[in-house]
Amino acid sequence: MQNTFNPKEYIHMPNCDRCNKPTTVSIMSVFNTETICGACKDDERQAPGYAAARDAERNAVRSGNYNFAGVGLSATDHVFLAERRKARATA
Ligand SMILES: [Zn+2]
Repeated sequence: MQNTFNPKEYIHMPNCDRCNKPTTVSIMSVFNTETICGACKDDERQAPGYAAARDAERNAVRSGNYNFAGVGLSATDHVFLAERRKARATA
């Protein structure tokens, strides 16, 4: 029975590190080591520093660094993401 709702699975569903909502997908942020949900990933793609963060991660992987922790969220990106979360919460 694959489609039976399993409360235990629900409880163990991870929460998004960024918006704290339970999520069925867990995507690694390109900015840091946070595991985030699909909505936060969409927000992240719009963030001003996204391209630079993504390139930095790519270059790290290319040079053999698979544990690259990311460039971190700049103040601008942090504010941007906070605004997006706020907009989502009230939507
Ligand atoms: Zn999220």
